[in-house]
Amino acid sequence: MHETDVVVIGAGAAGVAAARRLAAARIPTVVLEARTRVGGRAWTMRGAGMPLDLGCGWLHSADENEWAAVATTLGMSIDRTPPPWGIRRKTIGFPPDELEDFRAASERYFTRLHAADPADADRPASDFLEPGNRWNPLLNSLSTYISGAELDQVSVHDLNNYHDSGTNWRVVEGYGALVEAYAAPLDVRLDCPATTIDHAGRHLRITTPRGDIRARAAIIAVPTSMIARALPRFVPALPEKVEAAAKLPLGLDDKFFLHIDRADDFPVESRIFGARDRLTGTYQLRPFGRPVIECYFGGSLARELEQEGPDAFARLAIDQLAAHLGADIRKRLKPLFGSAWGRDPYALGAYSFARPGDAGARSVLAATVDDRLFFAGEACSVSDYSTAHGAYRTGERAAEAVLGVFEKLGA
Ligand SMILES: Cc1cc2nc3c(=O)[nH]c(=O)nc-3n(C[C@H](O)[C@H](O)[C@H](O)COP(=O)(O)OP(=O)(O)OC[C@H]3O[C@@H](n4cnc5c(N)ncnc54)[C@H](O)[C@@H]3O)c2cc1C
Repeated sequence: MHETDVVVIGAGAAGVAAARRLAAARIPTVVLEARTRVGGRAWTMRGAGMPLDLGCGWLHSADENEWAAVATTLGMSIDRTPPPWGIRRKTIGFPPDELEDFRAASERYFTRLHAADPADADRPASDFLEPGNRWNPLLNSLSTYISGAELDQVSVHDLNNYHDSGTNWRVVEGYGALVEAYAAPLDVRLDCPATTIDHAGRHLRITTPRGDIRARAAIIAVPTSMIARALPRFVPALPEKVEAAAKLPLGLDDKFFLHIDRADDFPVESRIFGARDRLTGTYQLRPFGRPVIECYFGGSLARELEQEGPDAFARLAIDQLAAHLGADIRKRLKPLFGSAWGRDPYALGAYSFARPGDAGARSVLAATVDDRLFFAGEACSVSDYSTAHGAYRTGERAAEAVLGVFEKLGA
């Protein structure tokens, strides 16, 4: 049986940040990763001759985001072009007066939502819509991009706990590539899921298909979807963790990339909403000036498209784009590839949201057990959940907690 001081379970943004912190303190650490690659929901595809992120792409709260500093240290390039959603003239195919009307409705909606008193009972975010407002379907689409779920499923308290500095940058080489590069010096065992964490004895015993590992502490940095399904399973059971994880389900978001022929005809870094009266895909034209369209689908629309099969994303995207850009565009769009995070066995979704009444589950999930089971991952963050920098912070926090306990024990 292998022995080490700390086992980190999951080599996503959280697990990698945790393991790097422990490595800096020279604590013997093994990272177990179920997939055959590191990065988890940070995943850069290079097949199209350019880096394209199927998972996280934006350094949200970029001016405070640890990954931006890591990128610079690793010699990667930061692109500071503001996102198209923040700039009026960047939304195309939306008449300016209508866009103004939508923006005003959206501002009123978010002002009402942010004014919700945290001392009051939690409510679904849909309660703050103006009944019958024509823009409610589009606000619901925004919710599927923000939370991976429609407004009626999402907790207002949790939304109001979220912190956003308002600055968004990108890594030119890809966010996934960044997490992967940061993991390079670590001892990561790929294709090695942790199936059981036995914490009954003096040492932890972590079971994997490649043998057991004995450790003094473990940082569990897997998505809530895994903990809720008992992968890994805790022995003795930790029902409060499984329950907290189940209260923080992963919403669903998927990306699909289309190549555009003669791309120079289209404005860089602009966007199109596929529809305004129902759940819709949103399309970012020519990110980084590249000859591609990044198509984004969320919530039940993404779920339906995943169920229909791999061609469904491209079909809907091309239909919606042709409705705005003219039928000729069809000949110029070539499907590249896309994600199906809901079907990915080690994600089963995109990022966590809290149902009404469940915002408190984040702290329950993050709490340490017996000074030796530590929890990390985006869902453990109260204010930066659903993001890669939130994941980083929970990983680093868990590693600091491990170091604190080891110090206390004099080791
Ligand atoms: C489509 C999409 C767009 C996104 N856009 C952004 C964005 O623009 N900006 C942003 O900040 N965030 C974005 N995110 C969210 C961001 O990617 C995640 O919040 C973050 O990467 C989560 O990191 P994590 O370490 O918590 O979890 P993960 O990345 O899921 O890492 C967990 C790891 O654990 C592994 N694992 C699971 N079970 C086991 C097991 N039993 N044993 C061993 N290993 C296991 C998994 O394979 C995975 O590698 C996006 C996500 C998606 C899907």
